[in-house]
Amino acid sequence: MSGYTSPSDCEICIELGGGVQPEYYAVWGVPDTGRVLRRNSRLALVPDLAPLHPNHCLLFATSHFLSFADFLSEDRDARTAEVIEFIEEYRSQFGTVTLIEHGSTASLERDPSCVTHAHIHLFSVDAAAVLDIFRAEAGIRVSSPLGLREVTDHAFGREYVMVGNLESMQLAIDWAPPHRQYARSLVGRATGLSLDSTWSDKCLNPSIVRASLADWGAADDR
Ligand SMILES: [Zn+2]
Ligand SMILES: [Zn+2]
Repeated sequence: MSGYTSPSDCEICIELGGGVQPEYYAVWGVPDTGRVLRRNSRLALVPDLAPLHPNHCLLFATSHFLSFADFLSEDRDARTAEVIEFIEEYRSQFGTVTLIEHGSTASLERDPSCVTHAHIHLFSVDAAAVLDIFRAEAGIRVSSPLGLREVTDHAFGREYVMVGNLESMQLAIDWAPPHRQYARSLVGRATGLSLDSTWSDKCLNPSIVRASLADWGAADDR
């Protein structure tokens, strides 16, 4: 399968497995204890290393899956409940949440995800304006609103973009986003934190990552 990264080659599996510390820990000033804000055996919440805004986080499966639709296909009820619990904690900390998963990485021939390991982006912005742009760009490809538990019914083994909040998730299946780094691009344009092609210059900001770790009180809990 093109685009497949084995767990032994995957930077996220290595990081979450407690292996050799990634080089970027030093560059970003991540403490020796790592950047995990909260984890259990199946999920880990971490600050994004190229944050669009403070507290831009990623929810990872701790095992190597290519998408959350695939992750949720096994032991669905328990996993769905855990994902919701993590997201609700994020929302209780930061007031609101927009969730974006920019597809499976089964094929990297199209616009690739930032890493080849299942992850959902969590932004502390209201989802309404983000969904408006998503619906306009994906058009008839966008599904009706659905719950997280139903995502796997539509998207298992597929490439997709998922946008929403916990109450209303919408999917575009087999749809190629018109912008690279679509999660950041979409939220950037919806909120005025515009970035487009220069996103990396604006987002690579270690001080924001350190602030996110401090905001969560991570140093005390891990
Ligand atoms: Zn992995
Ligand atoms: Zn991503």
